[in-house]
Amino acid sequence: MSDVDHAQASELFSSYWDEDLGPDDTARLEEHLRSCIVCRREYADFEKALGAVGGLPHEIAPPGFAAGVVKRVHKRSRGRFFATRGMLDRVPYELFSLVMLGLILAIYVILQLSQPGHVKIP
Ligand SMILES: [Zn+2]
Repeated sequence: MSDVDHAQASELFSSYWDEDLGPDDTARLEEHLRSCIVCRREYADFEKALGAVGGLPHEIAPPGFAAGVVKRVHKRSRGRFFATRGMLDRVPYELFSLVMLGLILAIYVILQLSQPGHVKIP
């Protein structure tokens, strides 16, 4: 079992707090917290921060909530965040670049063929 370092430990805080962590990660994080004052303080701060809103009971987000947040952030950031990389967005550009390449090739071939040197006079 490998130890977690500080960065990994703080990444696990959220899942640990949610009791969403696998038994292995839980054991590793708890061991690190026992041996590391820095992370213990950090986790205490994390708990305190969550405690401020944590008086509220845990609630399950309604279906589509995460997608709604992503959509809103995407819209408010004018597409800077959460740019969709779905097939629907990507395919037209790929198709477009293929069409452009084909067009360039066609122009090249036409120019090559239309040069006087290539014209065969019978
Ligand atoms: Zn640590």
